[in-house]
Amino acid sequence: MRTPFIAGNWKMNTTPTEAAGLAREIVSALEGVYNLEVAVAPPFTSLAAVGPVIRGTSIRLAAQDLHWEDHGPFTGGISHSMLEALGCVYVLVGHSERRIYFGETDHLVNRKIKAALRGGLRPILCVGEEEAERKGGRLREVLVRQVDRCLEDVSAGAAGRLAVAYEPVWAIGTGRAATLEDAVEAHQIIRHQLELLFGTQAAAPVRILYGGSVSPGNAAGFASQPEVDGVLVGGASLKVAEFAAIVRAGW
Ligand code: PEP
Repeated sequence: MRTPFIAGNWKMNTTPTEAAGLAREIVSALEGVYNLEVAVAPPFTSLAAVGPVIRGTSIRLAAQDLHWEDHGPFTGGISHSMLEALGCVYVLVGHSERRIYFGETDHLVNRKIKAALRGGLRPILCVGEEEAERKGGRLREVLVRQVDRCLEDVSAGAAGRLAVAYEPVWAIGTGRAATLEDAVEAHQIIRHQLELLFGTQAAAPVRILYGGSVSPGNAAGFASQPEVDGVLVGGASLKVAEFAAIVRAGW
């Protein structure tokens, strides 16, 4: 029912020239892949270089962040319309690295989600618990709180443009991916909360991705779970062969 979605987050890597080269290699490695959606999220400064390389392919352009206002005196800020003008379709919002290193709160994430939706972007809301929260039995509480606060005042009509990435903080960049059971449990919690917020019908098209140390070795397992609609890939998305293997993992 939901088209599988694989997104690559390049984080703070690649100059424009490097990014265009990486995009060219990904385009050629993914030739013939049509049954799912793929997006790449280069740094802001490489969006203009990657856009023309993927134009006309099935790969979509994503940004890693955006500002919560439309324009104004926000030095260094990048607005939704600036991203749209560069051809961005998706934007990551609330990645745990933004929360940890840049102090982003659920409230700020909510404002960014609403800015993306005010424009023409499709936000990918990132949520996920820290290791101490999981060990303390607080998984459900944390996920419910993040989903509720980050999606406050988002209408059911806009839900179809939304994706959610479940990214346990302890799994990001550590090589310790969640087990299938843990990922499925978290995805079920998130889907249930989306249904409470938007209604079952409006929540149905929202894709829930897993993120955190996804690799060619574990991607097929995630692909085999009906609750997992795709993956958000960090480190492995910078390695063409690994990213292509994840995309071709049997979604
Ligand atoms: C991420 O940054 O969203 C991510 C999942 O990173 P990694 O795949 O490197 O764990």
